[in-house]
Order: sequence, then C-alpha cells, then structure tokens
Amino acid sequence: MANGFDYVIVGGGSSGCVLAARLSENPDARVCLIEAGGQDNHPLIHMPVGFSKMTTGPFTWGLVTAPQKHVNNREIPYAQAKVLGGGSSINAEIFTRGHPSDYDRWAQEEGADGWAFKDIKKYFLRSEGNTMLSGEWHGTDGPLGVSNVAEPNPLSRAFVQSCQERGIPYNPDFNGPMQEGAGLYQTTTRNNRRCSAAVGYLRPVLHRKNLTVITSALVLRVVFNGKRASGVEYAVKGAKTIAEASSEVIITSGAIGSPKLLMLSGLGPAAHLSAHGIDVVEDIPGVGQNLTDHFGIDIVAEIKGHESLDKYKKPHMALWAGIQYALFNSGPVTSNVVEGGAFWYADGPGSKPCPDLQFHFLAGAGAEAGVPGVPAGSSGITLNSYTVRPKSRGTVTLRSADPRDNPIVDPNFLAEPDDLRVSTEGVKISREIFSQSSLQKYVKAIHFPDNNVRAQAEFEAYARQYGRTSYHPTCSCKMGKDEMAVVDPQLRVRGIDGLRICDSSVMPSLVGSNTNAPSIMIGEKASDLIRGNA
Ligand SMILES: Cc1cc2nc3c(=O)[nH]c(=O)nc-3n(C[C@H](O)[C@H](O)[C@H](O)COP(=O)(O)OP(=O)(O)OC[C@H]3O[C@@H](n4cnc5c(N)ncnc54)[C@H](O)[C@@H]3O)c2cc1C
Repeated sequence: MANGFDYVIVGGGSSGCVLAARLSENPDARVCLIEAGGQDNHPLIHMPVGFSKMTTGPFTWGLVTAPQKHVNNREIPYAQAKVLGGGSSINAEIFTRGHPSDYDRWAQEEGADGWAFKDIKKYFLRSEGNTMLSGEWHGTDGPLGVSNVAEPNPLSRAFVQSCQERGIPYNPDFNGPMQEGAGLYQTTTRNNRRCSAAVGYLRPVLHRKNLTVITSALVLRVVFNGKRASGVEYAVKGAKTIAEASSEVIITSGAIGSPKLLMLSGLGPAAHLSAHGIDVVEDIPGVGQNLTDHFGIDIVAEIKGHESLDKYKKPHMALWAGIQYALFNSGPVTSNVVEGGAFWYADGPGSKPCPDLQFHFLAGAGAEAGVPGVPAGSSGITLNSYTVRPKSRGTVTLRSADPRDNPIVDPNFLAEPDDLRVSTEGVKISREIFSQSSLQKYVKAIHFPDNNVRAQAEFEAYARQYGRTSYHPTCSCKMGKDEMAVVDPQLRVRGIDGLRICDSSVMPSLVGSNTNAPSIMIGEKASDLIRGNA
C-alpha cells in the first residue's frame, strides 16, 4: 500500500512538530508526520509536575547506555521520548537557549554557515510566546508558550538566595544579555499547562486538510530511487505501508532515532552497515558518531521539615494537589519541579568567556530515574550540575538490522579528563550552595555525597558512581563541511537528494544549556530552508 505526499516527516518530536506546522502553512503542500509513539493525551503530559513521573515508562524508548568505560562500567538509564511531542512532551520544561557564542562557534569554527547567533536569533524569537519577558531578547507571539513558574516553592527561592550567598549573582533572565548567575527558570508552559511542540505548534493546525499525522507507526527505512529519497516504509501493528514523498523526506527522529534510521536505510559507516547485512546506499562515516550529552551529577539533601514537593508523594496529599489543580488551576501541580538554576564557572568568574557549569535545583528528591532519594517518610531537595561543553564524544550504533531493536547508545561519559575535572568542581560548588544560610535553615543532612567525600579522588569516585544523562543527546548526525559531517548547512544529507535531517542530531557541537528550545529553533530554520525563505 502506498500514500503520496510532498513532504514526509519522520518523528513527531520537538523539531518534527515545528516542521509539520510550518510546511503545512502552504495549503498546496501535502505534509505527512509519522511518529512511533502514541498520541499525547495522557493527563500527566500536560501537568507541569508530570515530568517527574515520565523519565521512565510508556512514553520512553526504555534505553539504557552501553557499559560506560569511564563510569564504573555502569549501564545508565537513558530516557528519550516516544510520544507525540517527543522530548517536549516529557521534559522538565526548562526554557534556555544556550549562549550566543555557541552558535557563533558553529558558524565560525565548525562549518555551519548561516547558523551564527545573529542569523538564528530570529528563529528563537519567532518560536517564543513569552508571557512575561519581552524586548530584543524575547518573542511574545510565537507558538511555544513560555512562562514564569507560577508559585515557586520556598526552597527554590532559598536556593537562589543561597547562590547569592555563595557569590553567584541573581539573574532574572538566563536568555537575556547575560547567561551567568542564579535564578528561577522560565518554563515551556502556558496557563499552568505544559506547552510542548505538539500543543504549541501541531494542535492548532490539525484541522488542515493538507496535514496527515500518523501515530504509533514505526518508520522502518527510507526508500530510495537511486540516490534520491522517495519516501519511507513504516509499520503499524506489523502492517507495512510506503509513504511517498515527491519533494523531500525530512528526518526528525532525535539524536538517537535519526542515526539509527539512517543506518537501517543504508546511510552510514559502510563497514558497520555491511557487518549487519545492510546494503550500503552511501558510505557516510559520521552517522552515529560524535554523540555528545551532558553528564549530570546530583547532590541530595534531606530537609528537616516537609516544605519541598516530596510531601505530595503521599496519596492523600497527591489527591488534594490534584483537586486544587483541577478546580483552581493552582498549587504544586503547576511546578515543573526543577524550578531553580544557575550558570557559573568551575574556576571562578572571569576564568572563561562564558559559564562552563549549569545547575538545576529540584524542590524534591528521587524525582528522576536513577537518582537517589531520601529516607522513606522524609523530604528532600536535589541539586544537579554538569559541564556545559563536554569534550567526550560517543556513538550510536546498530544492535541489529531489526528496526524494532533499540540501538547501542554509548555517550562515552567522562572519556576526557577535563570533563571529570569540571564536573567535580560542579559537585563541590553544589555542596557549598547547600551549605549557605538560606538553605541551611531547611537542610538536615546532605546524604549524597556524605561527609566522607572530601578529597579530589573521592569527588571523582562520587561522579563516576552517581553521574548520569541529562537527556541532551545531540550531534550524532552533525552538520558541517568536514569528512565526519552528515548534513551540510542546509541540512541536506551528503550524497543523497531529497533527504534532510532537521533535529537535535545536526548540532555541530552541544550548546551550553538545555536543548529543547535549540531543537525547536532548528525546526524553524529548517522550515525556511526547505521553503526557500532562508
Ligand atoms: C526526560 C527529559 C527531560 C528533558 N528536560 C529538558 C528541559 O527541561 N529543557 C530542555 O530544553 N530540554 C530538555 N530535554 C531535552 C529536549 O527535550 C530534547 O533535546 C528535544 O526534545 C529534542 O528534540 P528532537 O526533535 O531532536 O527529538 P525528540 O523530541 O526526541 O523527537 C524525536 C521523535 O521521533 C520519534 N521517532 C524516533 N524514531 C522513530 C521512527 N523510526 N519512526 C517514527 N518515529 C520515530 C520519537 O518517538 C520522538 O517522538 C529533556 C529531554 C528528556 C528526554
């Protein structure tokens, strides 16, 4: 069976939803969006607090890393979204864009012509629907709702004050002229509900007759006519269909899914494909290489009382919070949990041109898969930090030629000694922040790391034992001009016609922040490149 479209988009995540909405603005363009996960109709997705329940389970691919050589051979849970909206449906809703110098580096040093900050800023602003901030750094009319946390937890406020006591100044806007400092994150929410790319971009245009959205459909491979991508083959409950694309196939399957799909389609390192019995359509050595992610390390404290969000883990408190949200659209359900944050320097202010550490403060403990909690019955808080521009590079490779198998994900965390050094400085600064007077009023004891962790070697051992993904895999199909580049600056796959990759996998290097807004920006710019507007 075959269906005909102009554009077929593979992956209904952050970037894919943007492209589906933008390309279908032209009523003559027949657009098809295919997503492996289901519809985004579960209530947890739309409650800001739901993030803490979704880092494992039905809206993820159930990935675990390969044993991490430099991290005690641990196999680390690796949450990646499998649902309409992709990462933007399950993420912590933190709205950050990276540092302008990240994009200037892409353009000036990494072959991404046309992606300097001055070139892409308009796409950030076009996407942004900020309900509070405006001016030259913010958009107010875009589809992506962005808001302040409605009712910050008292511990998040104490975190921001503790940062100031530690010498990290207050910053009211991480996406303004200065990234450094501590404050409360803005979140991708609107009216106290999550604003995913599916909610912000896709839902308002679902009525368009030229837009077809197919969910619970796994794309198996790209179909070629010679060296031209002519469509994709997908399966719904085992039944296979071809979706033909007369103009382009656009891959937005994320930094794990996109290289996997390319390799299954015969695009990738020839020897690796042949080893799995896959016919090589084009030998592209960079596919699945260069994987980069933020290696986050948490510290966890028990608090004396129950001021954090942990008290809502008790069923009667959760029920009360749910009723408050349903009736009054207020209360703890409006929290994204990760309310507070900071950008700072491992070696002190002025040591680098821009911050090399990012911090995430959680008004709770044990909220995410693989992160320790506090003793049963007590409440806690968590502070996560990571080196924002890690030097370690990993891989995504095929486990088998069966599209239903997850690929082998090896982020190769801490392969570079500098990543370990900067990361451990983050843990030390985290502990210093928890030791300042504003948080000390609440803290009973820091359990992770405990007091035995004092010397550098002990901090390193702690990092290896507890570090984990911060959910920002990128760069596995990087854009550029060198031999490891997979796409050119127009996002066209090298050696192939009619095929682009337009998601987080094309970043030439990881930006210094969370990656949802940058992935949406990539979708926005890609839509202009495809329509010839850029
Ligand atoms: C738990 C978690 C928390 C995060 N927290 C934040 C945060 O607070 N702030 C922030 O800025 N960023 C955060 N991120 C990162 C951010 O959400 C991602 O960087 C972003 O969503 C990536 O967008 P993407 O379009 O590249 O890929 P995705 O959004 O992952 O979309 C890819 C989509 O393709 C689908 N797909 C894959 N393969 C196939 C196939 N073969 N057939 C059909 N469909 C396929 C997937 O199911 C998925 O829906 C978080 C991510 C996670 C997972």
